[in-house]
Amino acid sequence: MILERPGTGLVLRERPVPAAGAGEVLIAVSACGICRTDLHVLDAEIPDIRYPIVPGHQIVGRILAVGPGVADLSQGQRVGVPWLGATCGRCAFCSSGQENLCDAARFTGCQIDGGYATHCVADARYVFALPEGYGDLEVAPLLCAGLIGYRSLRMCGEAERIGLYGFGAAAHIVTQVALWQGREVFAFTRRGDALAQSFALRQGAIWAGDSDRVPPQPLDAAIIFAAAGELVPAALRAVRKGGTVVCGGIHMSDIPGFPYASLWGERSIRSVANLTRRDALEFLALAPKVPVRAQITAYPLEMANRALADLRGGKLSGAAVLTIS
Ligand SMILES: [Zn+2]
Ligand SMILES: [Zn+2]
Repeated sequence: MILERPGTGLVLRERPVPAAGAGEVLIAVSACGICRTDLHVLDAEIPDIRYPIVPGHQIVGRILAVGPGVADLSQGQRVGVPWLGATCGRCAFCSSGQENLCDAARFTGCQIDGGYATHCVADARYVFALPEGYGDLEVAPLLCAGLIGYRSLRMCGEAERIGLYGFGAAAHIVTQVALWQGREVFAFTRRGDALAQSFALRQGAIWAGDSDRVPPQPLDAAIIFAAAGELVPAALRAVRKGGTVVCGGIHMSDIPGFPYASLWGERSIRSVANLTRRDALEFLALAPKVPVRAQITAYPLEMANRALADLRGGKLSGAAVLTIS
């Protein structure tokens, strides 16, 4: 399923199966998770998209062929491919475990053809073995909702009371990890979104309410997964002095002005950019211990436009996943 131009739907096209070059593997895709970022790709809200592009960056499949110079992956192995698809490997960021900030980074389903397809080629450095005990569909949402959610949660430090703004795929996974770590989760949704609020409470949130409300107790930290900039001042009002607001999305609308008093008291705001290899290795090892169980809605590959429309319309609880046969 290919995006040929910005602002259009995806179209089904037949292409030759790509070949794995040096340092790459060819993967037969079995499932690909759908992420809110895919909507930002469709809407051209992310810079430097390459057209035509096959979206999809929560790819699950088996290795069909291993290119020259790949040592630690083998044919037949079940693997996953996340959003960060390639980095230069040499810059100061790449040399210090901050490859998520590499200026030459390329992203799966954005500059590198992704997993809304039967086959894809991936840079072996960003191909990860997947934990046992998960089906292909179930494990797909762990690769972005899980990984970026986990990185966002790490940025909350030792916070015990955590607010999650936007209760979609990432938040429902983060909730499971946070509860397992002994934290409390407060869920904030669009005004009056009873479906999302009851979903959050079923997932174990201690409180759920509209995003402009102040929670019953001050939060130690908040993570914003929704793409709405006005949530930043709202979250600052909900966190205690010294608390952190983490912006976990790749795209966000402009943040409106707010009084300095909202930031005063050593509150901080930070963004989370992409993911590192360390995040992937840590989270994929942690997930089966919790165990993280993503709630999924499956669609066949050919129904990708429908799945994206359902995500956009707020009709999904949990994560959507494409099945590829
Ligand atoms: Zn994503
Ligand atoms: Zn680099």
